[in-house]
Amino acid sequence: MAAHHGSILRILRDIGPQSRAELARRAALSPTALTHLSGHLLKSGTVSELGQPQGGDAPVGRPAVSLALVQDSRFVAGVHVGASAIHATITDLKAVTRKSAALDFAVAASEPAVVVEKVVQLVDGLVEASGVDRSRLVGLGLAVPGPVDAERRRNLQAVNFSWKDVTFADQLESSLNMPVVVEHNVSAMALAESRYGIGRDATALLYIYLRTGLGAGLVINGMPFRPGGRGAVELGHIQVVEQGEPCACGNSGCLETFLSERALHRALGPGAPPPGPLLAAIEKHPEAWNAALRHLTTAVASATNLLNPDLVVFGGHLADAPEAFIDHVRRNVPPRVLSPMREELRIERSSLGAGAGAVGGAAAALDHFFYSGAQS
Ligand SMILES: [Zn+2]
Repeated sequence: MAAHHGSILRILRDIGPQSRAELARRAALSPTALTHLSGHLLKSGTVSELGQPQGGDAPVGRPAVSLALVQDSRFVAGVHVGASAIHATITDLKAVTRKSAALDFAVAASEPAVVVEKVVQLVDGLVEASGVDRSRLVGLGLAVPGPVDAERRRNLQAVNFSWKDVTFADQLESSLNMPVVVEHNVSAMALAESRYGIGRDATALLYIYLRTGLGAGLVINGMPFRPGGRGAVELGHIQVVEQGEPCACGNSGCLETFLSERALHRALGPGAPPPGPLLAAIEKHPEAWNAALRHLTTAVASATNLLNPDLVVFGGHLADAPEAFIDHVRRNVPPRVLSPMREELRIERSSLGAGAGAVGGAAAALDHFFYSGAQS
């Protein structure tokens, strides 16, 4: 039952208002089954009827009626756990932000129990400030820094955080009393771009995120790719030079030793990094700039040959990179990938801005709602 509710809501979300006959055809349901299911959804308030008189041939007194998703009938919370801040957002059923907030603290150096406590405080405060009735919140998605388990309940590992196997969903559900799903941070951002951002037409979207480290997430046909059930695409830990600098992962010469906040801050020298976008500051340090560009270009070309994305999205510091940086990658990746992919490949900045991680968490919670919990 829930699966059919979800498929009806997804069709209304993705295609827009339509008649019961169109909806029944698209959902592959009989008119009787559709009437029964839509009755439930109308009653729950997630779907409404739009009167649409259709001129001459509509029976008198019985105008054709369209069904529509009620975008603000339910809400979700999205939370992004970063190294030095937690960002949270409350969005409606189309991932449009109602209210967001952030809490700066040394997340990476804190025990997971402290992080859970802060997330609960932040979300409680945000729900209050948003004016959204708690009964209309249908779930929370937590974007975490590292792979998650197949059931999306635990953060298995976080290289820059020294965490292992943290049961975030269990702990948050018991405090917040709503369904919680945990998603790898960059996969969550990729999902948000794919469903609600610039990737709606992409078949395979590869999101590359530069912040503390360099992570990637892949969404294929709208669904996050989870090799081995985990789904983190550790682009930052491919080796780009032999016998290079040691990396936080225990290996050496990884891409992250050139392209991570730690590596870029080191290139800038002692003292606080200058204000403004990090890669704009690096442009004045040719050695670090050239190394970052050279190795990123190799990594994007290799990832494209391997994973065949038609859209590569740059997030985090890469989203704020100078035009010259993006231009270099756009010009130098295509000659290094196989020709059929070369024609299709687009490289774009993220459309979700600084809140991409929290919106990513919301997108994971929305997927949980639309695919399994849509009877709520
Ligand atoms: Zn590494």
